[in-house]
Amino acid sequence: SGKFFVGGNWKCNGTKDSISKLVSDLNGATLENDVDVVVAPPFVYIDQVKSSLTDRVEISGQNAWVGKGGAFTGEISAEQLIDVGCKWVILGHSERRHIIGEDNEFIGKKAAYALSQNLKVIACIGEKLEEREAGKTFEVCFQQLKAFADSISSWTDVVIAYEPVWAIGTGKVATPLQAQEVHVAVRDWLKKNISPEVASATRIIYGGSVNGSNCAELAKQEDIDGFLVGGASLKGPEFATIVNSVT
Ligand code: 13P
Repeated sequence: SGKFFVGGNWKCNGTKDSISKLVSDLNGATLENDVDVVVAPPFVYIDQVKSSLTDRVEISGQNAWVGKGGAFTGEISAEQLIDVGCKWVILGHSERRHIIGEDNEFIGKKAAYALSQNLKVIACIGEKLEEREAGKTFEVCFQQLKAFADSISSWTDVVIAYEPVWAIGTGKVATPLQAQEVHVAVRDWLKKNISPEVASATRIIYGGSVNGSNCAELAKQEDIDGFLVGGASLKGPEFATIVNSVT
């Protein structure tokens, strides 16, 4: 449902030189028309990317402050992301949840503030390995979803990224059926807790060890509406292959 969406999360990687190469590879790539393509560079390179990357590809922040800017050392506000040309922000990434320690409520508030500033949100959810093994995958994902739902009033500008923590950066991609099962459950949760309209219109994308070789099988799944790509998004041609896996 919705237009296929592929995001490249560059995380804390790159230099001016490597990013210039990546941008020129993306500028030269053939990207299917019917796909929203977004990249999320580290903050300090957003301006470089904005001034050199084709407008075909939109830009996202990897995080944002929870409210209006001010005396918050080291933070970047939603207004500033808009000012430098971002259309999107990734919020609730598992690395921020589990390494930095952001909790559900804080992330929900971030989403509400970003949307209030007209920044679209890539809202990340996903269980850890021990939670999956304990049979708590749905419970954890639903709690994370509920925290977003408790704070925001419209889902129009939200893409949900299901990223199981055990699949991120591990090379252990979820099988198409494992991903599909959670995507269906998320859509069902939206249907019951928000509305049938939101459930069918909201894109649910998968992230976690997606690459040029496994994207096609995943993309065939009915409820996988795109991808959020880490490592493989640092290689222009491979990222283009993933974009073009739209079915
Ligand atoms: P990898 O594609 O490197 O596993 O990272 C996924 C991710 O965290 C995207 O946000």
